Amino acid sequence: MIHVDVMDGHFVPNITIGPVVVEAVAPLVHERAGLLSVHLMIERPEDYLEAFVKAGADAVSVHVETCRHLYHTVESIRRLGAGAGVAINPGTALERVEAIVPFVDYALVMTVNPGFGGQLSIPSAIDKVPLVRQMMPAGTAVEVDGGIHAGNIKQIVEAGANWVVAGSAVFGAADPGAEVRKLQDLMTAPA
Ligand code: ZN
Repeated sequence: MIHVDVMDGHFVPNITIGPVVVEAVAPLVHERAGLLSVHLMIERPEDYLEAFVKAGADAVSVHVETCRHLYHTVESIRRLGAGAGVAINPGTALERVEAIVPFVDYALVMTVNPGFGGQLSIPSAIDKVPLVRQMMPAGTAVEVDGGIHAGNIKQIVEAGANWVVAGSAVFGAADPGAEVRKLQDLMTAPA
């Protein structure tokens, strides 16, 4: 799975990439039977859902704080044919997402404040992972994003994550491909 962090300079300070880049990457991901998961750290995500799904996103996650009508946004993602995720910041109370979990395909737990790569995971945010797993219906996924590397990935998986995002750990490695395989092995290694 390729995870794309979309930032708009409003909801988070950084500005990253948009649908044009997703469209360019999508064929490369899909021809290798991969999935493209787009994480929208932007204001008014509802205005851009169609553009990202048309560009090739298989899954789209939105932050609770950016949606005035979260249920409607989640339904729009699913109606467009993509998996819908709700993203939870370290400072987001789980009560705010409780009502939407029956309608999403995955929850994305941020273990750093969104906006920049290369940050260290916040331990209290990792503590949220088992609580989110418990809250989510069977068959849904829990994705964890932020500060994950070979030294903590096992702990994150044991806490209940089945999708784990690694950015700096992969792209900062001398051999990014080997690092991905190492992280995958650690995820499935017996405790
Ligand atoms: Zn992300």
